[in-house]
Amino acid sequence: MNLIPLPAFSDNYIWLLHHEGRALVVDPGEAAPVTQWLQENKLQLDCILVTHHHGDHTGGVASLQAKWNAKVYGPALENLPFSFHRLQQGDRVTWSGIDFQTLEVPGHTAGHIAFWAHPPQQDPLLFCGDTLFSGGCGRLFEGTPAQMLRSLDLLAQLPSQTRVCCAHEYTLSNLKFAIAVEPHNESLHQYKAHCEELRADNIPTLPAVLATELEINPFLRSRQPTVIDAVQKFASTSSIEEADIFGNLRLWKNEFK
Ligand code: ZN
Ligand code: FE
Repeated sequence: MNLIPLPAFSDNYIWLLHHEGRALVVDPGEAAPVTQWLQENKLQLDCILVTHHHGDHTGGVASLQAKWNAKVYGPALENLPFSFHRLQQGDRVTWSGIDFQTLEVPGHTAGHIAFWAHPPQQDPLLFCGDTLFSGGCGRLFEGTPAQMLRSLDLLAQLPSQTRVCCAHEYTLSNLKFAIAVEPHNESLHQYKAHCEELRADNIPTLPAVLATELEINPFLRSRQPTVIDAVQKFASTSSIEEADIFGNLRLWKNEFK
């Protein structure tokens, strides 16, 4: 089982898995980089997973579906401009002997789903679309802070060695914000230095490891006293209600430069 991040647009990754000549892709926002890679590596595409309806995650699906006759799976609660199998919480997709488990993670969009799988002899994989980023999380376009917090809680309890396959290379800008929130978090400074080295060589910072995210990602740490303090100062509030803290943390990130 091989895992490849295919760069697309300016900062998307289309994740590709392949095994014994067959391939699966997640969120192909464009078809060209996928087709080119499949042809160069003499692979057949037989499965497409979609996390949510945004164009940078779906734009290439219809043409790939037609060209390769691939099966397409997506969120039950969203409308997508192609035919697909609708997945809900707990539904499984089997590909190449591996079960992909559907997790409902609303917040960025109302029907957003994620996929978790545990390939044999490898660390587990999470394809989380625009819900969780390394050092950050997706914008709340269609959901409430409470919903997104619950979604991230669901992801946070997955096995800590899970490889987190995020859909965008946003890590360095997220870490700049994370350090503003937690300036004394030593793991965060170390991780930032590591990611800066990777980006200087044009290497993806992803997949991230869930255990690392739990130590450095303020959106997974919104119940930590250090994060609560910083958010209360930013928002001039004394509320300790967890959805308020999380919502203000997200607002802070939205306006952070
Ligand atoms: Zn999106
Ligand atoms: Fe996106």
